[in-house]
Order: sequence, then structure tokens, then C-alpha cells
Amino acid sequence: NYDLILYVNLELVNKKSDRRYIVQEMLGQGTFGQVAKCWDAETNSYVAVKVIKNQPAFYQQAIVEVSLLSMLNEKIDPDDQHHIVRMLDFFPWKNHLCITFEMLGHNLYELLKKNNLRGLQLQFVRTFSRQILDALIVMKGAGIIHCDLKPENILITPKVKSAAGVKVIDFGSACTEGQTIYSYIQSRYYRSPEVLLGYPYTTAIDMWSFGCIVAELYIGLPLFPGASEYDVLSRMIEIVGGQPPDDLLREAKNTRKFFKHVGSIYPGNEAHDGLHSSYRILTENEVEARDSKKPKIGKWYFPRGRLDRLIFAYPWKNLNEGNLPEAEKEDCLALVDFLRGLVEFDPNKRWSP
Ligand code: ATP
Ligand code: MG
Ligand code: MG
Repeated sequence: NYDLILYVNLELVNKKSDRRYIVQEMLGQGTFGQVAKCWDAETNSYVAVKVIKNQPAFYQQAIVEVSLLSMLNEKIDPDDQHHIVRMLDFFPWKNHLCITFEMLGHNLYELLKKNNLRGLQLQFVRTFSRQILDALIVMKGAGIIHCDLKPENILITPKVKSAAGVKVIDFGSACTEGQTIYSYIQSRYYRSPEVLLGYPYTTAIDMWSFGCIVAELYIGLPLFPGASEYDVLSRMIEIVGGQPPDDLLREAKNTRKFFKHVGSIYPGNEAHDGLHSSYRILTENEVEARDSKKPKIGKWYFPRGRLDRLIFAYPWKNLNEGNLPEAEKEDCLALVDFLRGLVEFDPNKRWSP
């Protein structure tokens, strides 16, 4: 990678006074460490400090986070216009790498929870989506894959002139397109089919996660809350319809974990709709027989159904379809169309930001 590391001139890490950042409260906890709201006694402002776990693997990955974010902040988005969190500083402290960020508000999962998981109004879904896309456009331009896009990693920006806004955070799993070394990436509900199946991935995996997020913002619950990878994949197939294309299934490393080869491939007849495919997804019984461990029922009771039904007739959203005002019906149609471009099984056909 590692000319990227050049952006991080460790020599420049000055020795900080012991009392610069005063912890006020804990903001969050993740796989990589803890995030604290701190008072910065040098600039007299609040900042968020991410304290990375003091293990070498986490330290290494945090260096990647610092490198990619400093490149994005300084080279790609110097004027802070593209909805990506600003990194302010970083320093080692008792074997922990600490990264200081601008202080932002609640994450989108917290926002949905505050709203009793009933989803946001379409105007907010639209505003937030556009801003996340703006971040994804510049990331794609820089060849950066976020690899962990989910509601917890999108934060509300503090109100400026009362306009709602969001920023993308947590580049702790990010990589560049030339450096896709990890195969176990993305949070399960937001994991793209190509990552599940073990197929080479690109910035298109962020667009899959983005589609999951947009749907979740509208309906209030995750689109594919699978208790296992198999569960996630079977929910995708049921809700989106169709399945990954044959050429992807043929080449992916994990296809046999999930699919059974059911026929030979007739050249020119490799339909992508799952109806004429050479593969079919395993039945639950087949998975059970193989794993001797039945996939657990998802954490949420989630009505299975086609994507358009979910969007149009979500129980607490639109009490019944017939009651939807004409204008909102059109909006829902447009939303379904938009989602179909995003939760598209074929990464080559999936919409780019
Ligand atoms: P993950 O498990 O997703 O990898 P992580 O350990 O990498 O998490 P972050 O996602 O960076 O950590 O931060 C964890 C949580 O802390 C976020 O979901 C958010 O709620 C909160 N947080 C992080 N950065 C900020 C910030 N700049 N302002 C306010 N809150 C923040
Ligand atoms: Mg996170
Ligand atoms: Mg992370």
C-alpha cells in the first residue's frame, strides 16, 4: 500500500501534554476500540477521540484508517464539502493509537431507535441518501472502498442553519481497490452478495450496503437481518428476487456453501433471474444436514415479501396501500426503482454512485 503511509508522517506526532483531552462521556464502542467525547483544552472545543485497542493488528488497521482518512480529508475533500468526517489529530497513548475527530451527533441507528424503528420521512431519506452518495462519489474517485457502511457508521451533523445532514465515519475497515486483501468484511446485514460468496470485490460493495441503508431508513428495520450468512443470502433472494449471475457463482470461492449445482451451462442461456440458472440455493434442510446447526431465526420478526410490497405496504408506514396519497405512491415507486438499482446481485449492473 504503502505509499499511502507516506501521508502519515509519524515523525510529526508531537508529544502531547497529558491533559489536553479531558474525557466527558463515552459515545460508542466498536470492534476496534472506544470513542469518547472529550473537551480539547487547547482549542476549547469538544472532540471525539477514538481509542484503539492496544493490540498490534488493531494498531496496524488504525494506521490504515489514519492514512486513508488523511488522504480523503486533505487531497480529495480539502473544503469539507463531501460529507466525510474530519480527522483532527492522532497520537499514541500508553500503546493505544488515539484518533481525534470533529464531534458529530447521533448515528443513524440511534436516530431510528429514537423514532421507535418506524423509519424516517421520505424527505430525510432523500437528503441523507444524496449526502452519503456524495461521499461515495469522491471515495470511488480515490479508489477507496469503505467496507463497513451501515447506519452506525453514518452520523448526524450538528445543526447548521437547521439543515439536516450526515457524514460518513469509521474508515477502520476501509481499503483501496488495489488492496482488497481481506475477505471477511462488511457487517453481516449489509454484506454484499459478492463478499458473501467470496468473489473479487470493488467499490460496488459499498453501493450494496448503501441500498440496504436507504431501505432501512425508510422502513425502520434492516432489510436483510439474517442470523447467518445463509440466512442473509436467502432473504436477499426472497426479497429482491433473482439471484447472483451464473458466471459469478461459477467463479466465487464460497458458492458451494450456499448453492447446489443443478445443471450444465448452456452457452447463451445463462439467465440471471434464477429461473434458468445452473445453480439453486440450498434448502434449509440441506444447510442443516451440512452444518448440523440450523440457522437461527432473525433477531427481528420481519415480514418476508417482495421489495415493492415492503416499501408500499409496510405495516406502520402506510396503514394500507389504498390510503397512500397519489404523490407518495409515485415517490414509493421511485424509491423501489432506486433500491432495485442498488440491491442488484450483479456488481457490474449495480448502480455506481
Ligand atoms: P465498528 O465496530 O463499526 O468497526 P469502530 O470501533 O470502528 O466501530 P467507530 O465506528 O469509529 O468505531 O465509532 C463507534 C461509535 O462511536 C459510532 O458508531 C458513533 O456512535 C460514535 N462516534 C464515532 N465517531 C464519532 C464522532 N466523530 N462524533 C460522535 N460520535 C462518534
Ligand atoms: Mg463503526
Ligand atoms: Mg470500524
